[in-house]
Amino acid sequence: MFTQSGELVIILRDKSFLGDWSFKPPFRLFKSLRLWLCIACIIFSLIPLTYINYYLGNILTQSQVKIKSDEMQYQCNILSKQLSKENFFALKDESKYLSDIDALANVYDGRILIIDSSYHIVEDTYELDEGKYHIGKEVLSCYKGETSNEFHADDQYIELTLPIYDSNSKTVEGVLLMTASTQTISDSIYIQNSIIYVIEFIVTLFIAVLAYIFSGFAVKPFKKLSKAINQASFGDMSAIEVKGNAEVEQITDSYNETLARLKHLDESRQEFVSNVSHELKTPITSIKVLADSLTSMGEAPVELYQEFLGDISHEIDRETRIIDDLLTIVRLEKKDNKIEPQPININEMLESILKGLKLIAKQRNIEVTLESFRPVIAEVDELKMSRALTNLIENSIKYNKDDGSVRVSLNADHNYFYVKIIDTGVGIPDDAKDKIFERFYRVDKARSRDTGGTGLGLAITKSIIQLHHGVIRVHSELGIGTTFHVRVPLNYLQ
Ligand code: ADP
Repeated sequence: MFTQSGELVIILRDKSFLGDWSFKPPFRLFKSLRLWLCIACIIFSLIPLTYINYYLGNILTQSQVKIKSDEMQYQCNILSKQLSKENFFALKDESKYLSDIDALANVYDGRILIIDSSYHIVEDTYELDEGKYHIGKEVLSCYKGETSNEFHADDQYIELTLPIYDSNSKTVEGVLLMTASTQTISDSIYIQNSIIYVIEFIVTLFIAVLAYIFSGFAVKPFKKLSKAINQASFGDMSAIEVKGNAEVEQITDSYNETLARLKHLDESRQEFVSNVSHELKTPITSIKVLADSLTSMGEAPVELYQEFLGDISHEIDRETRIIDDLLTIVRLEKKDNKIEPQPININEMLESILKGLKLIAKQRNIEVTLESFRPVIAEVDELKMSRALTNLIENSIKYNKDDGSVRVSLNADHNYFYVKIIDTGVGIPDDAKDKIFERFYRVDKARSRDTGGTGLGLAITKSIIQLHHGVIRVHSELGIGTTFHVRVPLNYLQ
């Protein structure tokens, strides 16, 4: 928008102004914790309800069928005994029993057949099959004196057979067969079940609403957490405080820890940049001062020019060393930095390093000795490992006293090789022991600069040792000397 004075002002709004109305892709909605909580609640309530409904329906049907068939059997028993007692098949006039038989059939909404010993149907309450034969399995068993009572679930009816005896000879003279439909029972159970299903639906609906409300409470702290984290993404690096359940508090703690680490990283990056600028500026300032002095001198003797140009060259060398070390450290700290491990004779490596440093040690009459306890072959990146060990031994010479000594020892076991560098130098104060591995840290800046140090040597050394999965430790006593311990695996760990 434009202000009154005509300036263009661009207003950047954060996405949060969209609030809850912002568009959420469907797959995110599908992943919503709240949705899954609701679904879980509904499923866990629906399964037992449906099971109970089905189970109850079955039990009710079975119990009602049992009651009906027991009652029928009881009544048929009375009737068959009566018919047996009165010798039904010997009677000339059986009509006096027909009303009883009809009444019993009507009570249970069923049909009664009386079958004689030649399988003739002599009586049928439906008056359909009289005179016909009935030779069923149950009827045949009944002639052997067995009664039967069966429920045919598929066709929904109960079938009973009872023997009718001759009261004198006690032999089976006929069979009383009664069938009754259980359709009315099924119908009433169906109605009951339908009512239960409606109740189940209402209960599920109620549970769904409750689940929606309670899942809202459950995810509320997560929403608060997400809002707080969102604020941090706009640059607010202060720790967040979200009260809620244990899980949310745990996430909050982890988030705050990560934030603190990021903050520290950011600060150390800023410090590194300012240190780099300062370190790079120092030689350039010196070069500028030297060059300005030369130009302002007018006609100066050649020796003076040579001396000044020598100093300028020295400062350029220093600048080059700093840039080289910086490039090395940046390369070492790159995530995809790879080392090229090869089996290397560490004894020979140390001998060659000591040979190279002999001259600077001799200048200050420092005795440098190597003690090898055993031949050591280890898988290391030769160039990098040589650089790390050179830095350590060179430092033990640089920060030594005149006429001092440096003892380098090499030992190994089955897994590691150990290098110990003991010097009789100036030592390191206790409060600086942890800092010496930081980039650009020096205990005595002037001394470091005089000896051509960049303050990056130990940082490079530590990075190289760590790349080989090794460790480096320092022990030092001020004014007495310093010992560096290095431990590196013999076989490179992928
Ligand atoms: P520099 O280039 O200054 O030597 P380093 O990273 O190699 O940088 O070392 C960091 C600082 O640690 C040095 O400036 C020095 O103060 C201290 N230091 C390193 N090695 C020794 C040692 N053997 N004895 C005493 N001080 C040491």
